[in-house]
Amino acid sequence: MTGLDASPTVQAIAALAAAALYGATYLSFVRLLRYPRNWHPASLPASLATAVLAALTVAAVALSREGLDGPALAASAGFIAVAFSVIAAPAIAFRPASRPVEFLARHGEHAGLWLLGPALLAGLAVPNIRLQAVLATAMAIELAWFLRQRRAGRRRRLYPLNVHDLSILETQAKGDLAAFRRRHGIRELVLSEDAVGWRGCGKTTPPCPFNLYVNRLGLNTAPCCREHMKELSHHLAARLGEMRVVHWLEGGSLLGAVRQRGALLDWEDDVDISVLLDRDMTWERLASGLAEWGAREGYFVDLFEKNGFVSVSFDPPGRWPFRWERNRLLGEIRTDIAIYRQAISHGEAVLERRSHKGAMPLTDSGGYGVPRGIVLPTSTIPFLGGDIACPNRAETYLRVLYGDFSKIEYTYVGAGPAKARARFDAVGVLPVR
Ligand SMILES: [Zn+2]
Repeated sequence: MTGLDASPTVQAIAALAAAALYGATYLSFVRLLRYPRNWHPASLPASLATAVLAALTVAAVALSREGLDGPALAASAGFIAVAFSVIAAPAIAFRPASRPVEFLARHGEHAGLWLLGPALLAGLAVPNIRLQAVLATAMAIELAWFLRQRRAGRRRRLYPLNVHDLSILETQAKGDLAAFRRRHGIRELVLSEDAVGWRGCGKTTPPCPFNLYVNRLGLNTAPCCREHMKELSHHLAARLGEMRVVHWLEGGSLLGAVRQRGALLDWEDDVDISVLLDRDMTWERLASGLAEWGAREGYFVDLFEKNGFVSVSFDPPGRWPFRWERNRLLGEIRTDIAIYRQAISHGEAVLERRSHKGAMPLTDSGGYGVPRGIVLPTSTIPFLGGDIACPNRAETYLRVLYGDFSKIEYTYVGAGPAKARARFDAVGVLPVR
């Protein structure tokens, strides 16, 4: 052992450096989770940056002048792998995921604390102060996350469930609401002698985990979430109008507006709006206009230039450096903005996007396109209590996306729950004019 290594000051500095590296790795990792949350493949530079930080953390723990500390290397690498799997579960579960991932996602508020026992054991078994500093930092982060989520959860307020929400809930619960609530951990559901209520999400509470409730259990979108989707979509459309961005209601939201006469689909999990970029309205102008508005009005704006996509969420942007910790939440109220550009495909003027949508046909250049005349000039349609821009020929547009759109299809809803709710939904459907 050298004299330098024996110095407590040097050891303390090395431990602090390892702890700081873990903190940086954690922040980089939660930022990376924006990709799976939005169903995009993770960007290579962002993934590499996180991997390099993780490797540096492990190296700072395991390497010293005395050489390589094998047990500390194994313990730190193993701990980071397990902890990050737990942290990533809610973002991965934005798509249908395996049972273990969904289980971890459902308990994402406190699952990190389950690592306390293993962390204590590792810290005691491997006498390496740098490892102990990393473990302590990780557990402090998990504890802070849990406490903040629990405090935020107390701000939920009670919403009544309407007759249709309640019928669907009772159908999926096969009549036994208490057992259903217990089995699926539906903490929002309030059962009292004379009423059934919903402890709803808000601007500063954790969101309702719609992936679980809407997609997995086949419930209606919660009343709180519907209310926030309404607010968000109209505020955003007003902002796009103010910026003179050509935009229109898209996908399932347009389907709701047409088929449900201005309402959301009952199992809606987001609002889709598309925008047209051109020489005047560039990506940069759109991005800066929305980012400025989001910061001012308290909406989280996430920009994905490569994917031609912006997501605007109801929750307010958090403070740096914890801005990206929101990616640990299961669910969010969101409006997805897809980018279109003018193009010529097979000799026809089209509006083209990069990601696929329904059955929208492929274009010459490998994107997806819809004939320009179906969209432009845009029209308006009643939607959630106000008028919103829509394609010029909304029903033709929907036929391009979904074929016979009067037929109900439960996209993203599990097969069993979809079958169970079909009977009720059929009654509520109005004929398409
Ligand atoms: Zn909600």
